Amino acid sequence: MTFQPPFQPRFRFAPSPTGFFHVGGARTALMNWALARRLEGTFVLRIEDTDEARNQPEWVQGIIDALAWIGIDESDPHFEGPHFQSANADAHVAAARRLVETGAAYYCDLTGQEVQDRAKELGITGYDGYSRDRGLDAGPGRVLRFRVPEGRTIVHDLVRGDVDFDNGTIEDFVLLRGNGAPMFLLANVVDDIEMAISHVVRAEEHLPNTPKQQMLWDALGHAPPVWAHVPVLVNEQRKKLSKRRDKVAIEQYRDDGILADAMVNYLMTLGWTPPGAEEAGSEIVTWSQIEADFALEDVNLSPAFFDVKKLTAFNKQYIKNMDPAEYLAAASAQLPPEWDRARFAAIAPHIQERLERLTDVPGTVDFLFWSQGDNAAEIDYDEVSWAKATAPEWSGPLLSDVIDVYDALASWDHESLKAAIEDVMVRFEVKLGKAQALPRVAVTGRAVGPPLFESFEALGRDETLRRLRAAFRRLGS
Ligand code: GLU
Repeated sequence: MTFQPPFQPRFRFAPSPTGFFHVGGARTALMNWALARRLEGTFVLRIEDTDEARNQPEWVQGIIDALAWIGIDESDPHFEGPHFQSANADAHVAAARRLVETGAAYYCDLTGQEVQDRAKELGITGYDGYSRDRGLDAGPGRVLRFRVPEGRTIVHDLVRGDVDFDNGTIEDFVLLRGNGAPMFLLANVVDDIEMAISHVVRAEEHLPNTPKQQMLWDALGHAPPVWAHVPVLVNEQRKKLSKRRDKVAIEQYRDDGILADAMVNYLMTLGWTPPGAEEAGSEIVTWSQIEADFALEDVNLSPAFFDVKKLTAFNKQYIKNMDPAEYLAAASAQLPPEWDRARFAAIAPHIQERLERLTDVPGTVDFLFWSQGDNAAEIDYDEVSWAKATAPEWSGPLLSDVIDVYDALASWDHESLKAAIEDVMVRFEVKLGKAQALPRVAVTGRAVGPPLFESFEALGRDETLRRLRAAFRRLGS
């Protein structure tokens, strides 16, 4: 999209507060944000809070916080809002009144049941236009309906191209409920008009609403906005992501140790491939590249699979690429307060490359913080790993040998620790992996973990030897 100055496009993100922030919502918000920033336009946040029963002030704050987490920052000059749909109720009703005056809308006194009964009788679906020419005034229980004109409605959609709707398949839809409350279709359009929205970029599930909304723009005397409906997110079974079945709340991913940058990068490359990504063999791109290159016209038309495994792989890359100081601060924040930060700092760089999530940190290094010294609790060995590591008949003599050489070691650093075990390995004619197996289980309780000699170094001579000896005693008993 290119625009001539001074045209400044106005995008909007219009969530209904529901108590959590859907990853699909985050994706459309980011698309709007990328375009608003690149085109020097505005991103309007409008909270569609007209469903009073479902509204809670803290949910609005939740939306603002979640947006901030993915980099959509209230203090950025491209950000406008939040506006609240509920504050605009008078304008919704006034617009409805104008539509009555011009004949574009009319009142109907049929109840929902009566509408259904008529449809059954006539063998049609939906409302048959019964009150079109009855000239009813407003009154209690009477809904206001839009008079759908004959013909076709063509929606120009940046993602999907032209979508052609036969108006004959669209019933005269309701604008005001029987109690006078505006319906979503009307409120959403009136707000978009009042907020001078030029681009409506939203999820595909709203596409069936679009011909109706376009007719409303028209009936209210305005040219419709540019539309773009982006394909929905689906799960492994190719079903639309649902809050009952799938993990959809962005807050949950944040709390589970996904980094904001990884989430943003992943969401933006769902159904969109950044230029050059194929040649580079990687979709890891910076936000400024996304902002420079993202185009709705390039968004893939098929539903996008929200693949948590792929998101996790992105996250691993992002953790790996984190600046060391930033990484250390973020990783340390995951630790219980009583764990010694200096000891963690010694091992932290050695686990950075293997973490999939920051929340994996405590479980990866916990063995360094088990109680120590004479009163230390027994190590909680993983029995399968123990059995495997102690199966060879040379395992006992090897462990005893390791204890001796470590006891005599002049310098307790990972290089000396490794060299010492290499000597043992030569004597026992086994590979390093095998020679390490029992010492690892002895000290960490399990068969996999951070680099071993760095772990011994971080744990210190006394505690490492204490654990090796405890394992040796266990072996003999
Ligand atoms: N409040 C609507 C929703 O959350 C917004 C629809 C729109 O973007 O127009 O689905």
